[in-house]
Parts: sequence; structure tokens; C-alpha cells
Amino acid sequence: MTETIIIKDRNIDLLRLASEISGEVITLCEQCGICTTSCPMAEDMDITPASIMRYTQLGDEFVLETRAIWYCASCFSCTVRCPRGIDLAKVAEALRQIKLRKNQDYLKIDELKEEAEELPAIALVSAMRKYTG
Ligand code: SF4
Ligand code: SF4
Repeated sequence: MTETIIIKDRNIDLLRLASEISGEVITLCEQCGICTTSCPMAEDMDITPASIMRYTQLGDEFVLETRAIWYCASCFSCTVRCPRGIDLAKVAEALRQIKLRKNQDYLKIDELKEEAEELPAIALVSAMRKYTG
């Protein structure tokens, strides 16, 4: 998938914060796209894993509003293939943390009432841990 990246809401602190939380050197990403082609979740994401990296490098807060950062399953397929040794799963986790620390949950438990009754408890607990602060 080819995407045109347009900077909407630049925040110079976003790159610094994501780098601090993830412990990754995000600026090392060379946009090779190997993470995207390795990712089992890419088709369901609204932007590619490589684009997650690019928007973060640019400090564009648009990345915080994407579905992709929440759909990353931390499977590490990209991590083991990245030629720059970047752990993208940690970057996605850092971006989720930035949202959650602002009390901006991805999952609204109130909206889940019917589904919650059918889901196994362990799935709900896992979802709450990942998607809510
Ligand atoms: S594989 Fe690594 S260097 Fe290539 S686009 Fe993904 S994060 Fe960047
Ligand atoms: S860790 Fe996340 S971004 Fe990387 S391949 Fe797995 S699901 Fe995709």
C-alpha cells in the first residue's frame, strides 16, 4: 500500500516521548517497508506499520488517532526482520501509552455490554489491559 503522508498536527514532543517510552531510536527507520510486508495485521490497519514509524518520526499527532497502533498485536514479526534493529512493537506500545496516559481509552466498556456477555473472561481482561488505562 502506498500512502501520501501529510503532516497535520506536528508536535515536536511526540517523537521525543515515543522514543523515551519505547527505548527505540525511531529516527533510525529508513522506510524500507519490510515491517509492513511482515505484518499479519497490516491489512486490517488504517495505516501501515512503516507509516506508524514515519508519522512518529515527523511528530505528527495523526498517528495517535489511527487504528493501526491499537491493532499491532506485538507479534514481533517486524522486529526480527527490521534491518535497522527497531522494535516497532515497542513503538506502537509507546504510542498507545501516550493515549492511555491522557485517559483516552480505545475500548469503552459501556459500549461492549452485549459482546461482553459472550466473550471469555480472559479475553475481556486482556482487552482491558491493552485498550484502557
Ligand atoms: S522494517 Fe524497520 S527500517 Fe524498515 S520501515 Fe519498518 S521500522 Fe523502518
Ligand atoms: S509487532 Fe505489530 S506491527 Fe510488527 S508485525 Fe506484529 S502486529 Fe505488525
